[in-house]
Amino acid sequence: MKQLIDQWVRPEIRALSAYHVPDPGEMIKLDAMENPYTWPDELRREWLDLLAGVDVNRYPDPQAAALKARLRDAMGVPAGAELILGNGSDELIQMLAMAVSGPGRVVMSVDPGFVMYRMIATFCGMEYVGVPLRSDDFSLDIDALLAAIERHQPALLFLAYPNNPTGNLFDAAEIERVIEVAPGIVVVDEAYAPFTDESFMPRLGEFDNLLVMRTVSKMGLAGLRLGLLVGPAAWLEQIDKTRLPYNISVLSQLSAEFALRHQAVFDAQTSAILEERGRLFSVLRAIDGVAPYASQANFILLRVPEGRALELFEGLKERGVLVKCLHGAHPLLSDCLRVTVGTPQESETFLEHFTALLQG
Ligand SMILES: *Cc1c(COP(=O)(O)O)cnc(C)c1O
Repeated sequence: MKQLIDQWVRPEIRALSAYHVPDPGEMIKLDAMENPYTWPDELRREWLDLLAGVDVNRYPDPQAAALKARLRDAMGVPAGAELILGNGSDELIQMLAMAVSGPGRVVMSVDPGFVMYRMIATFCGMEYVGVPLRSDDFSLDIDALLAAIERHQPALLFLAYPNNPTGNLFDAAEIERVIEVAPGIVVVDEAYAPFTDESFMPRLGEFDNLLVMRTVSKMGLAGLRLGLLVGPAAWLEQIDKTRLPYNISVLSQLSAEFALRHQAVFDAQTSAILEERGRLFSVLRAIDGVAPYASQANFILLRVPEGRALELFEGLKERGVLVKCLHGAHPLLSDCLRVTVGTPQESETFLEHFTALLQG
């Protein structure tokens, strides 16, 4: 079998390691930027009543018109812009890559950044170029980035705003420079929009090559798998051709539409997360030898004493707390862990074990 696999599976796919998602079991999950809060019982019942009326023998609305109208409102999509939906924003990244892929075509982003840009570029036979961020504060190295754009002429350039896994916002004027200089599409990936006031959404229409991507995952609907890509109709018309028919299930469409009708519930959860982010940050900053980075997202990147990241990660795991170990993922992330902001109770448990392990 190995011989057959070597013969047929593309070498760049064989060289990849699969995107690893650990089995959480009963653990406190602080590894994947999920909202820790569930729905009030009454909302849950109302939702289930709605789902009970669904005819699952029928295909869903291929255009998801009702959901799109709701998303326009909820996400502040400008009147002149169009939107298309993906099964998670990961699918939108894939659709974008499929629309522009070809021999020698380049996907560009910054490193450390969101790993799916690189992986999907590889799936689609494109070259990935990651331009390093500045080592002191993870801001854009704008001269290096502009030079790389000039040199590689990327078909597709992604900037996560705020960035994952560093949590910071890049300078808006520098992003503007990038959009102006880039020869191809620039996607500002606003997966963490609920946790910051900054956005490029209102600026759609100012540039021919700007698209904004959002997701409902981080606001509290990660299980639905729903992302949206917003921008000029002419671009989206082309990208939409790579979408598989009926990519958003009827259950996702109805559930997301229902949830967005109860936006106040999610806004309250977001406020709680923001408050907890502030509290967790100050506690972490006060711990000797630990340096958290200020975050505009629902996670905090932190540097721990040299050589201890993996041991702390494993120790936390043994004690039932799952965080993300980023040591080894990129040179700029040596000795780094990333912790999702959960409930105050979850933070307490994390901090208790973390401080005990640090002293041990
Ligand atoms: C989590 C994340 C996404 C993926 O979102 P899904 O809609 O769940 O696929 C996209 N971009 C960034 C930067 C993320 O951190």
